[in-house]
Amino acid sequence: GFCSQAPIRATLFPGDGIGPEIADSVKEVFNAADVPIEWEEHYVGTEIDPRTQSFLTWESLESVRRNRVGLKGPMATPIGKGHRSLNLTLRKELNLYANVRPCYSLPGYKTRYDDVDLITIRENTEGEYSGLEHQVVRGVVESLKIITRQASLRVAEYAFHYAKTHGRQRVSAIHKANIMQKTDGLFLKCCREVAEKYPEITYEEVVIDNCCMMLVKNPALFDVLVMPNLYGDIISDLCAGLIGGLGLTPSCNIGEGGIALAEAVHGSAPDIAGKNLANPTALLLSSVMMLRHLNLTDKATRIQDAIINTIAEGKYRTADLGGSSTTSEFTKAICDHL
Ligand code: ATP
Ligand code: MG
Repeated sequence: GFCSQAPIRATLFPGDGIGPEIADSVKEVFNAADVPIEWEEHYVGTEIDPRTQSFLTWESLESVRRNRVGLKGPMATPIGKGHRSLNLTLRKELNLYANVRPCYSLPGYKTRYDDVDLITIRENTEGEYSGLEHQVVRGVVESLKIITRQASLRVAEYAFHYAKTHGRQRVSAIHKANIMQKTDGLFLKCCREVAEKYPEITYEEVVIDNCCMMLVKNPALFDVLVMPNLYGDIISDLCAGLIGGLGLTPSCNIGEGGIALAEAVHGSAPDIAGKNLANPTALLLSSVMMLRHLNLTDKATRIQDAIINTIAEGKYRTADLGGSSTTSEFTKAICDHL
């Protein structure tokens, strides 16, 4: 039509295991919805690329750097010595500093709560994940938790900006500063500094143990949560569990300079790979996050509604949601709902 725009290039890593099947599902749905995206597909290599010290090629990283936007299926790191894990390589090379996971109840899919609507934002580069562990003397080991002002301000800034641009009212910083006085104390201090620049957003601080209890008792108490790396790992999985598990939860990694790499939360599910059984919802909803990042809001909303309506209707569901549809039947049903 007259308004059709030039296609936007985006990198696609179909990944391993069920990855190619659920990536096919995304491609089909994007075609059916006429999404102006041109995929640049990259597969994980079979040999270590010395430039990245991993099975990811330099070219595939360059593709994300150039396009600034991508979608990633699950990647199983091959076992063996002398290389970096795929996820670690992506995180380090693309400087993916924040992991964003929206968690909202899917209408029509019954879980304990039907009013979950929160966003967890996890610092992704430091904390307990700095990899600095060593033995002091026999029987005593030490692990260093690193918190920096720079990384804390960066993730806090992202959280408040996200809240403001997504119509959210509140940001909760999750911490254990009563025990980790220096590290979590610095994290909180940075969150407070950023909060002052966003007077329209309510800011609160919640101790992590209390946060866990509140989340399982009444998840509707929360809006946007921001936290250091390890707490984010745990809390984001807890939240995924609240809405129905791995097959449903999307996420997006944000890197320096505005790179966005969306990915499903689940792994490569080798037990069901190649059998046309996988639930593509998590990767599809991740692709919706990617579209929102690109401001393709109408397309994003249309696809998201089609997914939600298909699941709510209940006629076509994959086995993990108690149905008997194949990946392709479920995908076709979504396309029919568009
Ligand atoms: P990896 O080593 O890549 O993490 P894994 O064996 O840990 O793989 P996960 O992907 O973490 O497997 O999945 C754990 C369980 O959840 C498996 O039984 C898997 O079949 C199931 N599962 C995960 N993702 C999906 C999905 N998208 N659809 C259906 N089932 C899924
Ligand atoms: Mg796993």
